[in-house]
Amino acid sequence: MPELPEVRAHAERIDAAFAGTALAGFRPITFTALKTFSPAPEAAVDAPLAYVGQRGKHLLLDFGVATFVVHLMQGGRLRPDEKKAAKPRGGVARWSFDDGRALLLTEAGTERKAGVWVVEGDPETQAPLDHLGPEADSVGPEALLEILHSSNSRIHGVLRDQRLIAGIGRRLANEVCHRARLSPFAMSAKLTPDDAERLVEAIRACVAEGLAFERGRDDMSASKDRPGAVHHRKGEECPDCGDVVRTVEYRAYEVAYCASCQTGGKVLADNTTSKFLK
Ligand SMILES: [Zn+2]
Repeated sequence: MPELPEVRAHAERIDAAFAGTALAGFRPITFTALKTFSPAPEAAVDAPLAYVGQRGKHLLLDFGVATFVVHLMQGGRLRPDEKKAAKPRGGVARWSFDDGRALLLTEAGTERKAGVWVVEGDPETQAPLDHLGPEADSVGPEALLEILHSSNSRIHGVLRDQRLIAGIGRRLANEVCHRARLSPFAMSAKLTPDDAERLVEAIRACVAEGLAFERGRDDMSASKDRPGAVHHRKGEECPDCGDVVRTVEYRAYEVAYCASCQTGGKVLADNTTSKFLK
């Protein structure tokens, strides 16, 4: 799933290409594309695109009178639509601009989770952004320690909880824990101010690295190409110590870590044991 760096860099890309252009129309292509009833998307017709922003894993297309909040979820992409096909493959929604260009939201696969919210006024105070925690790279050590202590869960899960901190997904959670030299399964309530400081440094460094990578590209990267030490690198050497990168596998994802760097050499129990019980 695109996370904070990918979405922010993509917002900058679309902003550079489309800001200032007036909206000619918005068309949901699937039944599930539009998540709101009011205001109608037509409220923004004729208004110029003021700017394209990012909040957590969401893109914001701000037309002043109304803002379109877009969640790409796992396989969603928002791209200039050169073909303007009547039934575009994977098409979810289309924004047409008065200079003849268009933006198309597509979603790969069959999940149909990507969506668009139209909001009036401050988007921060309304669904879907109103439940988000602070932007991951804006949180300082004291605030992060408070967030970690507000829950007693594995850090990997706390980092991915958008209500607590916004913008981190599975990849960044893996990379942040590795960079901070913390076990992904360490319990958040037990972390110290020193741990929180290391986590803040790790979050900022990982976000900066991801942003630098994405900003050098013309389009959003594929997950496997993104920079990192452990995510998608099972069986490879840890770049910091040479130990092998290990994973704990879940049904839909894996937690990747280096035992030497993060757990004092302890190999974490693999959750796939459940598959042997079937
Ligand atoms: Zn290592």
